[in-house]
This record gives sequence, structure tokens and C-alpha cells, in this order.
Amino acid sequence: MGNLWSSQVDEDEEWENDVHYSMESGTFCVMCGNSFDLSGGVCNLNPKDQRYQWLCNYRLLGQIEDMNTHRLTSGHTEPLNTSNINGIFLSERAMFQLAGQADFRLQDESGTDDIWYNALWYSQDSESTLFPLHEACLETSVRALEHLRSRREPTDSEPALKILYHVLNKRFLYRHRAAGQDDFAVNDIFDLRHRSRLYGPCSVMGMNRIEWCGGHYDRFYADPVDINGLDSFIFEVLLSSSSQDKLVEIIPLATAQEPQGIERLPVEILDTICDYLPTQTIVKLHRTSKRMALKLQLDDAFWRRSLTTGSLHAHLWDIDTENMKTFRQPSNVNFSSDDWGWRSVAKLLATKQFPITGRDPRLNGMPPGFWNRCRIWHTIERALDLDYFDKLKREHGDSGIDFRDEIRAGPT
Ligand SMILES: [Zn+2]
Repeated sequence: MGNLWSSQVDEDEEWENDVHYSMESGTFCVMCGNSFDLSGGVCNLNPKDQRYQWLCNYRLLGQIEDMNTHRLTSGHTEPLNTSNINGIFLSERAMFQLAGQADFRLQDESGTDDIWYNALWYSQDSESTLFPLHEACLETSVRALEHLRSRREPTDSEPALKILYHVLNKRFLYRHRAAGQDDFAVNDIFDLRHRSRLYGPCSVMGMNRIEWCGGHYDRFYADPVDINGLDSFIFEVLLSSSSQDKLVEIIPLATAQEPQGIERLPVEILDTICDYLPTQTIVKLHRTSKRMALKLQLDDAFWRRSLTTGSLHAHLWDIDTENMKTFRQPSNVNFSSDDWGWRSVAKLLATKQFPITGRDPRLNGMPPGFWNRCRIWHTIERALDLDYFDKLKREHGDSGIDFRDEIRAGPT
């Protein structure tokens, strides 16, 4: 393995040998980059530790016809399909065993026989594969997809799980067709083995040896769904975002132009309309003109309501505002106080990527599970961004259409 304190370049080159081990065996979840074989020698953690148990809960996702082409054992029994989506197969919990290749075991419907499958397997004749995914990664990805889809194509009724499968499969086929069979990174469809100077490694596959020894894998191994300390973290962010952080928006109005269309409506009617609109739509409406910005005030009350009802940040689906109130102390201001900078908090919590250094100090107490949830959410956002713009390009050509700002609409 070389000297622990050797140069960074040498370190990364040598460390790749272990990364190869994990990737060549195909034993990692393509959404989070974590191995299904926690005891596989890539780190010294205790796989039986309760906080890592979410990494032991995974299922196989594919199309129904994939189940036959990826089946390794003969027999007439079938595993149970827990999906009720036409054409999509989602297994019960699977078991993993590394036996020369990445093999996954499912029980048949009677619960008496085992059936073995080879996931992430590719052949020139195959148009699809099976994906082993952690249940927590599935839940986070499906929530992210539902949210992003509702903002782009609200009339699309295709189930998010089906979209997820096709996004994964499209990327998998593209990578395998473009790469040689010996390319060890071919299953890394979201480039999770990479690292950036600003944000660090994208997954444990991008970590160097010093980071492993320093225990930096822990945040990648933190449960992204069942997060300890999320409410208290948000509460602390609120407390540290007092009135001095409030952003005051002063909008000078040009009076020369007569109000047009919806701008003519009285504020009371606009407020009533907005009661039925998603937060992101209200923000977009607010930005359409200076007159609308004056009529639809995005004040702290607006951001407070949007944040605490969960309508602003879909990745904070489990904020418990009643629980947050229990953190109040006599010295704290009232929970609904206007003294807090709700807009500033809303903006801060919109962030999904966090730089290694120089980040907002209010994020210092962030639970590792929340960090990991944001990482997986961002992976899906990035994937859909690319696929969505590919689709637009096919339909409209390079016409300069750019909806990126709409997709990212939020507090600025
Ligand atoms: Zn995962």
C-alpha cells in the first residue's frame, strides 16, 4: 500500500488499487457509491454498528424482463415484485455475496428457495440491466425526481420509480457501449469516483488513503433518510440567523409604464391566488416585473411559512416544527419571531453542495446524514439536468432555450 505520508499523487495512484477492488466487483450502489460489501477490506469500520445498518438494506430495481436475463440459477419459482408499476420490478430486500462476481440473492415468493442474480451485468445484446440500490437511496432519489418533475413537467404522470430506472439504465448503457470491457470505472455512471478541489471527493470511491485513515468515510456512510439531530440543527441555524442577517430588498418602481395583465390585480386577490400556488411559482411570479415584486412581497413571513410547511425545500421533507419548538429556552425569542432571518435561512438550506473550506459557519453543526442526503439529491438533480437538456436539444435544436434558472428557482 506504500507509505502513508507519500506524495498526494503517489498516494492517489496507489489507493486506486483498493478502489479498483470495489469497482471491478460491481459491488457499489450507483446512487451513493457505497459498497455492498462493507467488510471487503476497503476500510476498518465495524459493519455491525447500528448506524451502518441502512447500508445493509438494499433491493434490485429493473424491468420485469430483466429478471430472466440476469438470473443465474434455474428453477420455476419467481421472486416477489413489490412494485405495482407496469413493467417495473422492485425486489424485496436482497442479500449480497461476492463470489467471483457480484451476485445478489432473493427469496422466491414462497420464501423457501433462493434465486441468484447478477446485477449491473452488460452484454452487447442487452438493452437493460438490474440495479442494486439502498432503500434509503431509492427513497431519496424518488423524492428528488418527484419534486424536480413537478417543477418541469407537472402534467407528466409517469411514476418517479420508473423514471429513475430509465435514467439509470440510459446512463449505464451509454457508459458500457462507449467504454471498453476492461474499463474499471464503467459502472460509475454518475462519476462518483471523482473529487474536486472545492468540494472534495464525490463518494468514498474518490477518497485518498489519508482521508480513509482520518475517518472521513463516516459522512458518506451516514443514513440519509433517518437523520439524527435534523430539527435541532435547523433550530440552531435559525437562532444564529438573527435580524442582522436579514436581507432587505428595496425595489425602486418605474412609474412610467402602465400595469399590464396580472399586474392590475389588487394585492388581496393576488394573495388569494398565491394561497393555491407552490412556493417556487410564487417566487417566479415575484420576479416577473418590479411591479409584481412590490405587490408580492417575499418577506420573512413568506419564507417562514414556506420553510415550515415543507413547500420550499423538498429535501427537508421531515422537518418537525413542533419538535423544533421544544428546543426553545426562556432566553430564546419566540419561535415565530420576525427577529429571525427566515429568508437568509431559506437561502442557506437551498444549498446541496458544501465546500470543504470557507462555508457558512451556521452549517458547522450539520448532521452527517443531512450532508449525505444533500449529496444524493444533488446527484439526481445533476443527472436530470443533463437528461432534460438532452431532450430539449433533440426536440428544439440549439435554440438557446435555457430553463436552468427556473429549475433552480428559490431565494436569491
Ligand atoms: Zn446507495
